[in-house]
Amino acid sequence: MRRPLVAGNWKLNGSGASIEALVKGILTGASELDDVSIVVCAPYVYIPQTADLLKGSEVGLGAQDVSDQSEGAFTGEVSAAMLNEFGCQYVIVGHSERRALFGERDEDTAGKFAATRKQGLIPVLCVGESLEERESGITEAVVGRQLDAVIALEGVEALADAVIAYEPVWAIGTGKTASPQQAQDVHAFIRGRIAALNGDVAEKVQILYGGSVKGSNAAELFAMADIDGGLIGGASLNAQDFLAICQAGHNANH
Ligand code: PEP
Repeated sequence: MRRPLVAGNWKLNGSGASIEALVKGILTGASELDDVSIVVCAPYVYIPQTADLLKGSEVGLGAQDVSDQSEGAFTGEVSAAMLNEFGCQYVIVGHSERRALFGERDEDTAGKFAATRKQGLIPVLCVGESLEERESGITEAVVGRQLDAVIALEGVEALADAVIAYEPVWAIGTGKTASPQQAQDVHAFIRGRIAALNGDVAEKVQILYGGSVKGSNAAELFAMADIDGGLIGGASLNAQDFLAICQAGHNANH
C-alpha cells in the first residue's frame, strides 16, 4: 500500500493565536501516527510561524497556492523559492476555488505545478468536476483534461513525486461527500490514465480524496483501493477532528 497522506487546507482562516493553538493540538496526537504523512497548508503570512511551531516534528508544511513566475513585476505573488526558503515542502496547485473564483486555467495550474517542482517542492495537484459537469456525464473528460495539461507541460514522470487530489467541486465545503465508490471510480480513472503512459508512476503517485471528509466518513473512503488519503478543508481547522481523520489513515494502513 502507498503511504497514507492527510493534508489540511486552512484556506483563508486563522490568526496567530488560533494557529498556535491548532498546531499545538495537532502535535499532541501526530507523533503516534508515524506511518501517516501529515501536512498542514497555511495562509502565506502564517507560514513562518507554522514552520517554527512544527520544528522537530514529522508534520509537513505546505502553501495553498504559488506563482508560476520566479521573480519580477508580479504584484501580490509569492514564488516557490520563497516558500522553499520558509520551510514549505508542499504546495497546493489548481484548487477549485482558485480555478472558479480567480479564473485559473488548466495551463496556469500546470505552470504552478512546474514552478513548484523546479524548487524541489511537492505539488498537490487538485482536479475535480462541478455538479453540472457530473450531471452531464463529463466527469472523466474534465478530470482527464486537467491532468493532461500538467502531463503535457511536465511529462508523466513528474507525477511520480507529486500528489494528486481528486476533489469534486460539489463536495467541497458542502457537507456532501462523494460515496466511497464514486470517489474510487474517479481515482481508478486517474490512476489508469497515468498507467497507460507509465505503470511505475501510476503505482507510486498518491491520490487523495477531498470534499467534506470528516472523522466519521474517512475510514470508508480510505479503505478504497486507489484512495491514499485526504485533502481536508473545514475539518482541518479543529485539531481533534483533523487527528481523527489522520487516525483513519493510520488504521487503513494496518
Ligand atoms: C478543500 O477545500 O480542499 C476541501 C476538501 O474542503 P472541505 O473539506 O471543507 O470540503
